[in-house]
Amino acid sequence: MGRPLVKQAVAAAQQRAREGTLRPDAVPDAVLAALPAAATTLRPVLNATGVLVHTNLGRAPLGPAARDALAVAAGNCDVELDLGTGTRGRRGAGVVDALLAAVPGAGAAHVVNNGAAALALTAATLAAGREILISRGELVEIGDGFRIPDLVESTGARLREVGTTNRTHIADYERAIGPDTAFVLKVHPSNFTVTGFTSSVGAAELAGLGVPVVADIGSGLLAPHPLLPAEPDAAGLLGAGAALVTASGDKLLGGPQAGLILGDAELVERIRRFPLARAMRVDKLTLAALEATLRGPAPPVRAALDVPVAELRARAEALTAALEGVDVRVVDSAATVGGGGGPGVTLPSVALSLPERYAPALRAGSPAVLGRLEAGRCLLDLRALAPTDDQALAGCVRAVEAGR
Ligand SMILES: *Cc1c(COP(=O)(O)O)cnc(C)c1O
Repeated sequence: MGRPLVKQAVAAAQQRAREGTLRPDAVPDAVLAALPAAATTLRPVLNATGVLVHTNLGRAPLGPAARDALAVAAGNCDVELDLGTGTRGRRGAGVVDALLAAVPGAGAAHVVNNGAAALALTAATLAAGREILISRGELVEIGDGFRIPDLVESTGARLREVGTTNRTHIADYERAIGPDTAFVLKVHPSNFTVTGFTSSVGAAELAGLGVPVVADIGSGLLAPHPLLPAEPDAAGLLGAGAALVTASGDKLLGGPQAGLILGDAELVERIRRFPLARAMRVDKLTLAALEATLRGPAPPVRAALDVPVAELRARAEALTAALEGVDVRVVDSAATVGGGGGPGVTLPSVALSLPERYAPALRAGSPAVLGRLEAGRCLLDLRALAPTDDQALAGCVRAVEAGR
């Protein structure tokens, strides 16, 4: 704990002793009790919302492999050193190799700060002063007021919109292509669906136009997932002929915040060498956690996506049994992927249903618990919660019950 925090706690306890509200011999204990457990104001939260990738909770929780890797990288490590020769090594080589092993169709890979940076760097390198074609159905606002079109134009590229909101055809792209066209951009509408009289053009058909196709897939699925058949994946798009794919590291990929650029080796190298790339460089912590996410066992987001509903029900029954005396019942629930993935998809889930008054009390607990309010009840959905956190969840509920 830093000196200012300790001094503040001592001064407060001494003041209470002077005022007579604290016995002088109780001052040391009061000081210890007042000190925060960690030097960060961030507090751990159990995600019982049923939203697998919750943006307000920091998106993907890291798995044990990534957490161990963070501990290694926290000190000095060979992030940019070849220990064999003692000379400078290629920064982030391990994570690039892991990405290429996961997506064999990619000729090269580059990692930046986040998905937005991946797209912005790609546009700045390949299209500044030139044109990018994009369907009007793919002009996406990604959240917190940020819009893909504004992001792309801020790099000095011009967007040329083609088609309409609901329907865009290959002929729309063909008509718009000219000498100034740098690439065609496909943006995955990752947070909404358009239904009804709709059509869009896939990467395979766009690849036949003779200009590079860049696909911003958002979620970071590297290969298809059976539960999310409509979710685009990096391998599929590169296989269909996209020159480059950009994605986030902390959505369905389940890793740390990062942006991935995968695809044509020559284009990736130009992007990697572009001056702005240095301003979007990731730190050693990100490199370590991302590599471990790719090489280690399925990260928590993937485990949560794949867990059978029968397993969730068994956990819920065990939890209710452990919460004797609490007004709790097991209910069916519907979970969602959340932040940038699987729009419109619901995943069958199971929740503990508690009286609504539990919600604020659980948020104030330690760890805090975030559930979901539905029909006057506080639901604690188990799908996004790691099974290893069940005991902690039960403890939080019991603490609320004991405290009233
Ligand atoms: C989430 C998302 C982004 C932005 O990625 P960040 O990692 O949040 O910067 C860009 N495009 C799409 C399609 C997304 O879903």
